[in-house]
Amino acid sequence: MSPETSPEHDPVHDEQPGFGFSTRAIHVGQDPEAVTGAVTVPVFQTSTFAQEGVGKHKGYEYARTGNPTRTALESALASLEGAAFGVDFASGLAAEDAILRMLDPGDHVVMGNDAYGGTFRLISKVFGRAGITWSAHDLTDLTVLDGAWPAATKMVWVETPTNPLLNIVDIAAVAALAHSHEALLVVDNTFATPYLQQPLAGGADVVVHSSTKYLGGHSDTVGGFVATNNGDIDQHLRFIQNAVGAVRGPWDCYLTLRGIKTLALRMERHNSNAAAIVDLLVGHDAVATVLYPGLATHAGHEVAARQMSGFGGMVSFRAAGGRGAAIRIIEATKLFTLAESLGAVESLIEHPGVMTHASAEGSDLEVPDDLVRLSVGIEDEADLVADLRQALEA
Ligand SMILES: *Cc1c(COP(=O)(O)O)cnc(C)c1O
Repeated sequence: MSPETSPEHDPVHDEQPGFGFSTRAIHVGQDPEAVTGAVTVPVFQTSTFAQEGVGKHKGYEYARTGNPTRTALESALASLEGAAFGVDFASGLAAEDAILRMLDPGDHVVMGNDAYGGTFRLISKVFGRAGITWSAHDLTDLTVLDGAWPAATKMVWVETPTNPLLNIVDIAAVAALAHSHEALLVVDNTFATPYLQQPLAGGADVVVHSSTKYLGGHSDTVGGFVATNNGDIDQHLRFIQNAVGAVRGPWDCYLTLRGIKTLALRMERHNSNAAAIVDLLVGHDAVATVLYPGLATHAGHEVAARQMSGFGGMVSFRAAGGRGAAIRIIEATKLFTLAESLGAVESLIEHPGVMTHASAEGSDLEVPDDLVRLSVGIEDEADLVADLRQALEA
């Protein structure tokens, strides 16, 4: 498992010289269908593929191993991440599971101390039983981590921006540190999306997504995705995808493929709506602190401005009146729907302490109980601002 490799032939970029992000989102892997000319990639709802002779097939044998709708999505998403390879999975956690299966008993994973709860649970409770050790660190301060580097570390797991505290980790700096210790760097790019942040260009070895969120973008399918330029890692992922079988059906792949066509447009709107919400929150009497990397006062602002092309649609804040006030605000919104998840067209609001991060209570990953997390959608800005204002003042 070596961190360096760059393929001689990059199937995405060699064939798509200079095309922009949205052009690639709409066209890579999505030529009109060969037989009928269908402009939209069909949902190949089939479990098996006829063979012309024994062992003679057209590239597809059995749909766990490969399906043309899935292939189209994998090509397009890999292109968006600037990756030579991409593999789709049944969920973000299935994708993470496939990556973590590169590790052997005794290997160590370094992760952020505010990792996504499901990632923490997977690494600690599932891979922990398989002999993988882990430690959680403040990855915004790499000098501390460098001084306390766990010897068996084979993988560093980074989210940036983090969930729900929206801390920023310097991808290039952590890549250099991980590689100096011969560890792979995995970046969870779910919050930023490839439109706002390109971790592979920053030195990451692997990018992982919950495509349930912004990539799909419409709260209608659960999925996961891994991108890499490392052919050995790609081979591993393909093997796990087929051997373990955590694949999605073609209909779900189609929904994500449809979603990414508008990713750039949606992210622009998420950015501008979130900025308007932040303007409302900053200085409001009901709000103690606003956590948003776009704010010049945010500790990670400079790094975010360097490695992101926009600050995204996730905004967290701490209620001035404590836990009770936070819950009152959350229950008073009408347009912001009270729900877990994030990254879709509709705006959502939640209480991480009770909802998404309840399993972290009492651990390093515990979040403040007055914290409110917003996933700012793409509705009309004025309506969102008015709704949140009435909730803050209710
Ligand atoms: C939702 C999420 C995951 C897990 O993805 P699923 O699709 O729910 O399995 C992982 N990382 C982040 C940052 C997430 O938000």
